[in-house]
Amino acid sequence: MLAVLRREVRKWKTPIVGVVAEKTRDPFWVLVSCVLSLRTKDGTTAEATARLQALAKTPAEMLHLSVPAIARAIYPVGFYKTKARHLRQICADLIVRFGGRVPDTIEELLTLKGVGRKTANLVVTVGYGKPGICVDTHVHRISNRWGYVRTKTPEETENALRAKLPRRHWITYNDLLVTFGQNLCAPVSPQCSRCPLASFCPKIGVEKSR
Ligand code: SF4
Repeated sequence: MLAVLRREVRKWKTPIVGVVAEKTRDPFWVLVSCVLSLRTKDGTTAEATARLQALAKTPAEMLHLSVPAIARAIYPVGFYKTKARHLRQICADLIVRFGGRVPDTIEELLTLKGVGRKTANLVVTVGYGKPGICVDTHVHRISNRWGYVRTKTPEETENALRAKLPRRHWITYNDLLVTFGQNLCAPVSPQCSRCPLASFCPKIGVEKSR
């Protein structure tokens, strides 16, 4: 199924963090773009990331910006005022606790303000090329529809995938399933009639499809 998906996703837009990863593997900007992307459309995140990059390149430079200045730069991303505060706090923490460097372990990343498992896994995988599985709502939903896992929360899905998914797929799994989830296997009414995986998919939990 992943081999089929790899072919399919070429025709769709890469999710925002994939776009950032194509331009830079800088863990700091992977982290920033992921924080900005939560509850925000990809296009809005991309524009906000670019505006912020024009003002500051590093955590130290970002600390020279006030919270309102960061908020203005990232507006209209979702919760822009809270995210501006978190970004400044993250930069201060990176400097004080991590010598200006983004940490490369999930445990350390989770100690940063506003950073959850999804963001931490993305930084570790995309920013550092280390094994990790980033589970967001798309990965959680689709893995369950396929019957590959049977879980109630993204965190349970991450644990189930860590135990089951071959390691060679860990880093790419998120990009493939997010793109697929945004374009075809949608949360409500997935387009099963034109899905290349329809003959393998048990469609668990799908009540209505197109
Ligand atoms: S058949 Fe439907 S539920 Fe299954 S992967 Fe395709 S779009 Fe998703």
